Amino acid sequence: MTSHREPVDSVLDTVGETPLVSVHAAPADVPIYAKLESFNPGASVKDRIGQYMLEAMLDRGDVEPGGTVVEPTAGNTGIGFAIAAGRLGLDAVFVVPERFSLEKQQLMDALGATVINTPTDDGMDGAIQRAHELAEEFDNAVVPQQFSNPLNVEAHRKTTGPEILDALDGEVGAIVAGCGTAGTLMGITKAVRDRVPDVHVVAVEPEGSTFGTLFGRNSEEGEYKTEGIGTHDADTNELFDPTLVDELVAIDDREIHAEMRRLATEEGHLVASSAAANSLAAQQVAGEIERGSVDAPHDTVVTVFPDSSERYLSKGVYRSFEAWDG
Ligand code: PMP
Repeated sequence: MTSHREPVDSVLDTVGETPLVSVHAAPADVPIYAKLESFNPGASVKDRIGQYMLEAMLDRGDVEPGGTVVEPTAGNTGIGFAIAAGRLGLDAVFVVPERFSLEKQQLMDALGATVINTPTDDGMDGAIQRAHELAEEFDNAVVPQQFSNPLNVEAHRKTTGPEILDALDGEVGAIVAGCGTAGTLMGITKAVRDRVPDVHVVAVEPEGSTFGTLFGRNSEEGEYKTEGIGTHDADTNELFDPTLVDELVAIDDREIHAEMRRLATEEGHLVASSAAANSLAAQQVAGEIERGSVDAPHDTVVTVFPDSSERYLSKGVYRSFEAWDG
């Protein structure tokens, strides 16, 4: 747990306790608050699971000190795991589909991890399979598997959720968050539902993602540029529990791109595409609460800004939509 007032011993002591900041594009009577996860030492929400999951796995003996963590990751999880692994005496190997940002891959390397690329066409599934093959080659290796490991959800249930409840004194009307593994949304939801049972829960995905299949919909699959959220095969996202979700909102890449720039220009938020998707979905839900078409227990909406746009400058996030190489 971080302290911003006293010296601390390790970067791991600075994970969590991130600021909760108003999004000014909210309707007048329904404030939106965003948890700014780029304040973590590895500059993303995934530092939380890096620390929480590795400490728990060492505690219960899934891996011994001196062992190796092997994980398929889009990047932020790798950075979070690499920071924690180094501090906890573990080596780290990450399997990353080629399409993900170079900044992330360079940061994992700088943190002392080994990065192995898999073809973009093989998707996250290909990376998962390769990670398990690699783990077989080491003694004392573990694949935390953020896509199926309940510790991912628990990290947010124990940290992100309680921080939000504390900051708002329990007055959480709706939770809106984009889903990759869905650990963030599920964990926050479980923590908040303990205190606010009828909180309105909204999952966010880019258009082209197919979480809708989990709700019996015929989701039309397509490519999207937004990074870190969405799925092409919802069976991979084992932590996504549709029974905890009231609404699934899909946002178009073009709108996400414009919102990224608006958040920077108008609100001073240097946040990436998944944050922009969350911001738009949160504005939509806040509007629904204001109009009375959604009955939320409080007139507030909470969302997450998972990471910073700086991590994607090489992909041209602030250039024209066409020049944004998602
Ligand atoms: N945004 C970004 C930038 C991410 O890297 C991730 C993790 N893939 C998410 C959002 C979604 O978080 P979660 O995996 O907890 O659903």
